[in-house]
Formats: sequence, C-alpha cells, structure tokens
Amino acid sequence: TEETLVLVKPDGVARGLTGAILARIEAKGYSLVDIGLVEPDRDTLEQHYAEHEGKPFYEPLLEFMMSGPSVAIRLAGNRVIEGFRSLAGTTDPTTAAPGTIRGDYGRDWGLKVQQNLVHGSDSAESAARELDIWFP
Ligand code: ATP
Repeated sequence: TEETLVLVKPDGVARGLTGAILARIEAKGYSLVDIGLVEPDRDTLEQHYAEHEGKPFYEPLLEFMMSGPSVAIRLAGNRVIEGFRSLAGTTDPTTAAPGTIRGDYGRDWGLKVQQNLVHGSDSAESAARELDIWFP
C-alpha cells in the first residue's frame, strides 16, 4: 500500500467543504491514517512549496496558505497518489472536470493565486518529503 499527503486548503476549510471532501475520499475507499487541523508557519510552507520559489504566484500562494487553517491528512491505499489526484481534478478549478473536487466546488475568484481547495502529492518522492513536513 501507498501513502500520500492531502491538504484541504484554507478556502476549503473556510467554505465548510471539509466534510464533503472527506466524504469523497472515504467513498473512494481510501484510509485516513492521520488527520488534523493545522495553521502552518511560513517556514513550513517554504519547505512545502520550495519548487515554486521565484514564480509570480509564490508569495500570493504563501499568503493564501497562511490566511486560515488547513486540514492535513495522511491518506493510504493502493495507488492513492494518482487516485487522489484524479479525484481532485486539474490545478485550474475553472476547467477542472465536473465530478472532481476542484471541478465541482472550485472557480476562479480573480485573485493572484488559484484557490483550488485541495493539495495532493504528485509522486512517491513528493509524498515522502511532504508527509515528513506536515506530520513530523
Ligand atoms: P497540479 O500538480 O495538478 O498542477 P498542484 O496543486 O500540485 O496541482 P502546483 O503546480 O504544485 O499545483 O502549484 C501549487 C499551487 O499553486 C496550486 O495548487 C495553486 O494553488 C497555485 N498555482 C499553481 N499554478 C498557478 C498559477 N499559474 N497561477 C496562480 N496560482 C497557481
């Protein structure tokens, strides 16, 4: 079995969508190994988003991620990394497929950062790295 890091980002928590998002994850059959409400500091976010440093949306992304609590989830299951990314939909919520979390609940709010409700690790290497950051 495999593990991934899922975040319900501040927009998802603020909009009261945590339960709806968890329901989809559980209905798909994945297992919650650990879960908690977190308010990450800047250092944690700089580690998590290191690959995006210097991009135009980097600062707005960190500001957004510090704007309120997120829910961090250690999620397990066979092929859960690609499975959760399929559930989440593509990055841009405006065009994410209906039926996905981002496609059903997300949209463009005209901000400098895509508020797209969730994060899921994109590879086994990312999952191991990110789980160490969020579940030390
Ligand atoms: P995916 O890997 O499917 O693209 P992701 O959430 O992992 O989704 P990243 O490319 O790692 O996306 O980007 C991290 C986050 O930065 C995104 O989830 C989004 O909130 C924000 N972001 C990414 N690209 C842009 C962009 N071009 N403009 C604004 N915000 C962006």
